[in-house]
Amino acid sequence: MSNLTITFCGADGAVTGSKHLLDDGQHKLLLDCGLEQGRDQAPHQDQLPFNAQEINAVVISHAHLDHIGLLPVLVKQGFTGKIYSTDATKDLSEQILLDAAHLQEQDAAYAAKKKWEGWDQIHPLYTVDDIGPVMEKWQTIPYQFIQSGWTDVLPSVQVKLYDAGHILGSAVTVVSMGGTTLAYTGDLGRYDAPLLRDPDPLAETIETLIMESTYGNRLHHPVSAINDQLIQVVKNTAIRGGKIIVPAFSLGRTQEFVYIIHKLTDEGLFPRIPIVVDSPLASRITAVFTKHQQDYDKAVGEDFSRKGEDPLIFSNLRYTQTVEESKALNTTPGPLIIISASGMASGGRVMHHLANNLADPKNTILFTGYQAVGTLGRSLVEGAKQVHMFGQKIAVRAEISVLNDLSAHADALELERYSGAINGLQRVFLVHGEQDRSEALRDSLLMRHPQWKVIVPHVGEVETI
Ligand SMILES: [Zn+2]
Repeated sequence: MSNLTITFCGADGAVTGSKHLLDDGQHKLLLDCGLEQGRDQAPHQDQLPFNAQEINAVVISHAHLDHIGLLPVLVKQGFTGKIYSTDATKDLSEQILLDAAHLQEQDAAYAAKKKWEGWDQIHPLYTVDDIGPVMEKWQTIPYQFIQSGWTDVLPSVQVKLYDAGHILGSAVTVVSMGGTTLAYTGDLGRYDAPLLRDPDPLAETIETLIMESTYGNRLHHPVSAINDQLIQVVKNTAIRGGKIIVPAFSLGRTQEFVYIIHKLTDEGLFPRIPIVVDSPLASRITAVFTKHQQDYDKAVGEDFSRKGEDPLIFSNLRYTQTVEESKALNTTPGPLIIISASGMASGGRVMHHLANNLADPKNTILFTGYQAVGTLGRSLVEGAKQVHMFGQKIAVRAEISVLNDLSAHADALELERYSGAINGLQRVFLVHGEQDRSEALRDSLLMRHPQWKVIVPHVGEVETI
């Protein structure tokens, strides 16, 4: 046994708010600093579960808000160390944090304007001005396959980053600290996913693994099955002359979806109808993707980059720039595909497109991922006949369709495959999953590897490894 402790500070028995603290008695290293999101969002997230001034360094796995969203709070509360990640994660994080800060400022201002109950108690966790000091502390580390070897992040603490295949820039962190070697998956992607590389196998002997378990009890269909379903839905709607509204997250899902359509269009399998990405954040993030094309899967290079083409730009696709362009889409006739955020129809511009298009049976609403309980997306997927939006009742007559298997997360078999390929593994902590999903994965891992210790930790638990 080493003298290293892990404190599970977030995303334990839940899927958001990832924070894991490593302590070897000399130094404290934080793995991710995520915001809790959704229905069970904790109201006092400015109360960090540790003293910010005692954290010596942070390593970030990827740029989703539930892994980076509390970095500005950490810095505001006196963190003076460095933040490490891949280059793409740094650039994407800057966009995501600026957007999050802007939305929080907007929400607080709106509550004050409307004089909502307790409006004077509603403050943004941080503002746009707080993001600069975070970015100043950020250093980048190349992926292992680009530049192999350890990076010193603290005296006697070393790190390697492997591609996790979850979103652009996502990494599995291998840490050598306190006399042991540990790996933290962050979020792990699917094998054979579009645009991204597969999760990169770890070369080291790893004693302890902290692994996500979002889909610990679920099996996805092969990625190839998505194309047939997508083509069918679009063709049927185009024949009716309808519009296809695609709620999609600005980071990851939008770019993946655009890439799939581009490839199918070039292969002559997809109808050549106008496609519009209507999300200012998605446009900014797509620019970051284009800057980091070296992080795409090799196949993307063979299909597009080698021919001098950008996989995220093609002739019948455009990105809106102004609010006027967005509004003009209301009167643009179908067939037309509008891709807009948010992915669960819980806010953002897509709400206006839904309000304008739900009542027409010619149209289709095409969801591209998991819809959380309590969101408009979930109600529509579950067959609501009428919804309330912007103070009015809207009948749902449009076709509702779901591309379920376009997931950014590995399924149960893929998680088993990834952990099963690691040399010397002794113990696995399953995080980033709802309790029953993590427990289902624990049981199946123990069946295959009875010699392993597999633990589903609770928030606040401390383990010595
Ligand atoms: Zn993620």
